[in-house]
Amino acid sequence: MAIESVNPTTGERLATFPEMTPAELDRILTAAVRAQKAWARTSIAERAAPMRRVAALLKERAPELAKLMALEMGKPLKDGAAEATKCAWACEHYAENAARYLEPRSEASDGAKSYVRFDPLGVVLAVMPWNYPYWQVFRFIAPHFMAGNGGLLKHASNVPQCALSIEKLMHDAGFPKELFRTLLVGSKPVRNLILDDRVAATTLTGSEAAGKSVAAASGESLKPSVLELGGSDPFIVLADADVDQAAKVGAVARMLNAGQSCICAKRFIVESRVYGEFLEKLTVALKAVKVGDPLDAATDIGPQARRELRDELHGVVAKAIAEGARPTLGCEVPKGPGAFYPVSILADVRPGNVAAREELFGPVAVVMRAESADHAVEIANDSKFGLGASLWTRSDAQVERLVPLIEAGAVFVNGLVKSDPRLPFGGVKTSGYGRELGLEGIRAFVNVKTVWVK
Ligand code: NAP
Repeated sequence: MAIESVNPTTGERLATFPEMTPAELDRILTAAVRAQKAWARTSIAERAAPMRRVAALLKERAPELAKLMALEMGKPLKDGAAEATKCAWACEHYAENAARYLEPRSEASDGAKSYVRFDPLGVVLAVMPWNYPYWQVFRFIAPHFMAGNGGLLKHASNVPQCALSIEKLMHDAGFPKELFRTLLVGSKPVRNLILDDRVAATTLTGSEAAGKSVAAASGESLKPSVLELGGSDPFIVLADADVDQAAKVGAVARMLNAGQSCICAKRFIVESRVYGEFLEKLTVALKAVKVGDPLDAATDIGPQARRELRDELHGVVAKAIAEGARPTLGCEVPKGPGAFYPVSILADVRPGNVAAREELFGPVAVVMRAESADHAVEIANDSKFGLGASLWTRSDAQVERLVPLIEAGAVFVNGLVKSDPRLPFGGVKTSGYGRELGLEGIRAFVNVKTVWVK
């Protein structure tokens, strides 16, 4: 099967690539293992040199990378350029901090000396999604290459040109050619790759379904895996919150990447006393969002990444309305060849509604009413997901009391949930397991080696 790149703004096919054959994959794997064994012997300072160069190249090439993202998955140019710059930040962060994160730790024991080292594991397979085609990949590359691992990228099938540009960035920066390769394959060969002895570990960012199959193959072959899966992040607005600010930031948090971010604010859970005011202000903020051609500088959000994903999203919206949600903005599929979906609001969504249960991966705000702060947390936790959560209140006492009760991998208070190379990122429940970024991220794929000396 060929890998196709299709412009979601126009429906036009941009490029087609033949899928790599099993024989090619076999050669790449063997070479990657050889390259990783040499890389593992380098010092952290030696690894930091190409890592800093790739950061510089990401910044230098930001305009062209942004254009590729706009063409292949519909991201507006300004967001694409910001994404490339954020990747550079992650590379610089790990170039700077890897030595500290991987510093051997002394522990007292009955030996004359005992300590813990963090050695590389080997070649890691990264299965990545299209929504942040560079950021998702560089938050894998930056820590794990600094830790001495190698990497093979199986990117989403709709962003092959982005995937190839990452390989070029890595090679131009001076990383050994075979240490990082892009595998142009669909999802079918992934299972066999994970089962292959030459792959040491796997990381996947993607849907629950993909997560289950990667976890199964990793389990079968007894290999570590990190899974970053979906989310239906609550955005909790308590009665004492700054409602004006919450509505403004909430609109941004819902519309990140045309609503196609795992950490978008997907369920606005608002205390009754401020429900009407919040809904009104959110509506004003959302009406100002400009949907259009991602190549146009004035565009805030582009199309959805693929037409069938847009149609799936609308199917859930229609079902939510049939189940009692009140559409107050958008919610209708526009005519035309692209994968566009309007900025939409589903108000008065009750627990149990499909819009409260499933992840809405698009520009649709789900607004729910809570009777109290505790009720808001109860609704927030009534989800199979547990990625991020945003809590809005002016009360420090409420923050102290409620944060520990929220079932999520991150809680951002009076701000939107975001990723940051300095802070660990990941979820609980069906949002996955393991962590990326920060100290925990670089420690995900290392051999925690105990050394005891008599
Ligand atoms: P997806 O269909 O799961 O695709 C993600 C990657 O997994 C792609 O490379 C895909 O390859 C591959 N894949 C799909 N099915 C697979 C299988 N059975 N076995 C092995 N690999 C498989 O996800 P998506 O719909 O593109 O992305 C959106 C999802 O990712 C959302 O749920 C979103 O919340 C989640 N996400 C999570 C995070 C996070 O950090 N937690 C970040 C971003 C996105 P093909 O393209 O070839 O099918």
